[in-house]
Amino acid sequence: MKTIALIAHDRKKESMLAFARQHQELLSKHTLLATATTGRLIKENIGLPITTYLSGPLGGDLQIGSRIASQEVDMVIFLRDPLTAQPHEPDINALLRVCDVHNVPVATNESCGHLLLSTIGE
Ligand code: PGA
Repeated sequence: MKTIALIAHDRKKESMLAFARQHQELLSKHTLLATATTGRLIKENIGLPITTYLSGPLGGDLQIGSRIASQEVDMVIFLRDPLTAQPHEPDINALLRVCDVHNVPVATNESCGHLLLSTIGE
């Protein structure tokens, strides 16, 4: 069983819901973490159990980053909005950096997310 973090910026929330729905069966077999709003939407709309942290702009990226630094996360699906400035850009960079420091795979768009999930199979 893997631990997978799911995070989506506001304009990517619908994409994340579609992504999670498409991979619902697979995701249901793993431990899921998310920032507050992303996790709530996945819980409410798809019914997957998911541990939520603070919203990204309030420090949720850093909380998940801390789990990554503690080697407690196997994979991150982070659907970033590349067209909108984010107030918590430093936190986003920190999250991506800690993934690189600990060699944790991180997908920042759906195509890469599909590829990553395909590596863990059923
Ligand atoms: P959210 O946080 O899931 O609470 O919206 C994600 C973000 O915007 O970084």
